[in-house]
Amino acid sequence: MAAQTHKTYPTYGRIDGPIAIIGFGSIGKATLPLIERHFDYDASKLVVIDPSAESNTFLSQHGIRHLEVGLTPENYREVLGEVFAEGKGFCVNLSVDVSSLDVMKLCRDLGVLYIDTVIEPWAGFYFESENVERTNYALRGGVLAEKAANPGGPTAVSCCGANPGMVSWFVKEALMKLVADLGRSDAEPQSREGWGKLMQSLGVKGIHIAERDTQARRLPRPRGVFVNTWSVEGFISEGFQPAELGWGTHEKWFPENGHSYDEGCQAAIWLDRPGAMTRVHTWCPTPGPQFGLLVTHNEAISISDYYTVGSAGNPEFRPTCHYAYHPSDDATLSLDEMFGSGRQQTVHEILAPDEIVEGIDELGVLLYGHEKNALWYGSRLSNAEARTLAPYQNATGMQVSSAVLAGMVWAIENPTAGIVETDEMDYKRCLDVQRPYLGPVEGHYTDWTPLQDRWQQFNEDIDESDPWQFRNVLAS
Ligand code: NAD
Repeated sequence: MAAQTHKTYPTYGRIDGPIAIIGFGSIGKATLPLIERHFDYDASKLVVIDPSAESNTFLSQHGIRHLEVGLTPENYREVLGEVFAEGKGFCVNLSVDVSSLDVMKLCRDLGVLYIDTVIEPWAGFYFESENVERTNYALRGGVLAEKAANPGGPTAVSCCGANPGMVSWFVKEALMKLVADLGRSDAEPQSREGWGKLMQSLGVKGIHIAERDTQARRLPRPRGVFVNTWSVEGFISEGFQPAELGWGTHEKWFPENGHSYDEGCQAAIWLDRPGAMTRVHTWCPTPGPQFGLLVTHNEAISISDYYTVGSAGNPEFRPTCHYAYHPSDDATLSLDEMFGSGRQQTVHEILAPDEIVEGIDELGVLLYGHEKNALWYGSRLSNAEARTLAPYQNATGMQVSSAVLAGMVWAIENPTAGIVETDEMDYKRCLDVQRPYLGPVEGHYTDWTPLQDRWQQFNEDIDESDPWQFRNVLAS
């Protein structure tokens, strides 16, 4: 299979040693054909590690080695130690319930490159600890502590999916678009500090990771079933985490249920409320104004941290940043049913590319507060197009798997960069690799602000002096 596809698709390099894909759900399955298409490697050394028997059927039909085992804190050293006994290779962690930090550390000890799309904890973390401990701030803090304690060494790319991941590259591309569209001549920054100063000087107050997923199948969602376009388990877990957001220096108000930090990067706050029950006013090109869910995500914290100018505790500038996610209509109804009943549905369905009859995943960054008010910049990939680009992809999966591909290419080209976040990577190189898989990537300016389209009869508690205060963004 590889020989034929290599004629038409670029090969980005050779992976010496084994490739292990941990987790073969919607994203693992979508990433496999991109690895097959774009890398040289010894196919007999590719292995998928996943406890599900369903994966086994698919993988055995495709002649791919499968370790039908779930990784646990007790067995991961032994299982991965055997897989990577040669002391080289690439570990692609696309699972749920497997600690990214532990696997990342082990891979770096073994001399193996590593990538994941979230900082995933071991099973239990999401539901069994105190709210302050269930935050992405805590999870990211663990990875940053490891990075500080052991700088350099084998590259481990943290959180390199669509979001977190690709959206960090879009922020930089959007900033350079703003520079051009405002008729400025700023050179492209070469350092983190330079990017922060550029964002500050452009007057950007904050960023929504603004997403609208309109993918739908023909049949209505059956009651009692959680339907999503990617991991149901992953979405429920993050939806139950407290809402979190990067907290900008322009904010004049502080939420009553908000908590800040006096340790670590101090770029974020958390709210004592599940993210998937916390709505914000936001904007995407297709719907225009819409509700989004303030589901916690790593990028909300990493982007606010990366663009901070000045000290962590007393910054001169920091943008507000958070996710504003309108999932597919079926997922929205599934959430409504779950939160309303106080029970998680036991039947989970991920919309497959060939059952989706319409819709796009519109995923971008909304940079707001500047001279041109707001700029949405992102991918507007349809399921119909995703299906033509690579096998086993709906639009959501394609945006994620192609970011994994880009991150793997970057890691191979920068094999001793240590632990990195996507904000720190070469966004141009990554988007060069990823762009053929993203459908239309577009910038849209809007004069919408969160003060518009409100139900004025109800006297909402808003701050009319600055439309872009989080107080106005947060829906009451
Ligand atoms: P999924 O639920 O479809 O699949 C998860 C897979 O992990 C399943 O096949 C399951 O059997 C396997 N698994 C469960 N426990 C395991 C264990 N102990 N060891 C090994 N495998 C195990 O999820 P998905 O949609 O493929 O998402 C995978 C991961 O990617 C999730 O963590 C999700 O949050 C993340 N994700 C990130 C982004 C992004 O843009 N950054 C987007 C989508 C998904």
